[in-house]
Amino acid sequence: MKYKKYLNANYKWIKWITEIDSWKQGKTFWIFAINHGNEPVWLEVFQELEKYLETNNIVYGKILLIAVNIDAYTKYVNNNYDDSYRFIDDNMNRIWNKNIIETSSEWQRKWELLSIFDEIDIALDLHSVSEWNLKMLISDFSQKSVVNSIFDVEYTLFDDIENTWALISYFLKNNKIWFGIECWNHKSSEAFLTGFDAVKNMLLYYSFTNYKPESKLYNQVHLGFHEEIFPTTNNFKFTKEYNSFTLLNKGEKFASDWEKEYRENTDFDLYIWLISHNVRVWDWAWFLFKKL
Ligand SMILES: [Zn+2]
Repeated sequence: MKYKKYLNANYKWIKWITEIDSWKQGKTFWIFAINHGNEPVWLEVFQELEKYLETNNIVYGKILLIAVNIDAYTKYVNNNYDDSYRFIDDNMNRIWNKNIIETSSEWQRKWELLSIFDEIDIALDLHSVSEWNLKMLISDFSQKSVVNSIFDVEYTLFDDIENTWALISYFLKNNKIWFGIECWNHKSSEAFLTGFDAVKNMLLYYSFTNYKPESKLYNQVHLGFHEEIFPTTNNFKFTKEYNSFTLLNKGEKFASDWEKEYRENTDFDLYIWLISHNVRVWDWAWFLFKKL
């Protein structure tokens, strides 16, 4: 299998972690990949980053390359790259901040990673999408002033993330610096380039390296979470094809759910984001975001 090195790595007896050490005191940067098993592009980022750091040594601290859920990745590869193998039993990104004990492989992995949680100062969680092409950062309001200078993405979402079950929430509650990035469709090499760039920019911004970034391509649009809506009947329909983030027109009817109509009736710029075109009652949700 590809990326064997990361599958066999370990750090302080914790599996799938590769350490890059400057041997000088400083911060620890955790790069979190394959949180979802069907997003393998980040193992490629690890590989290229290691090559890159051979000539651009980090000047202080250390980097931990953490392949989070290799079991899910292995299942994904063994099942012909089937996108449904995002995890084994539990979504690895929805089990944080929960005061219950479970025994699934994802929960066991969570306990393992928590045993070194105190070592981490800064983290980047790399994701990619399976529908659409999209470069999007997920961040917290406390980081609002720095996101433009670090990341070259189309959109940055600020959410009430302290109260979710995502990994980001756990980091924020424990005063860590955290960013999550969705880098284009994971079947495209564009995703690799975006992810690799994000890592290099973070290394520079937090003074691990002296890399000079290329000029940025995008004027980031900053969006705040407005509303999450679930289809409630099988007669749910969007009025047209909405791709990725779309700014709705004032008064525009964008969906209907049996007799209920969904219309843009706000006094701010409202964007719609569809996770998928598939509509499943009480399952596939879509989101509305307010331009900040
Ligand atoms: Zn993901």
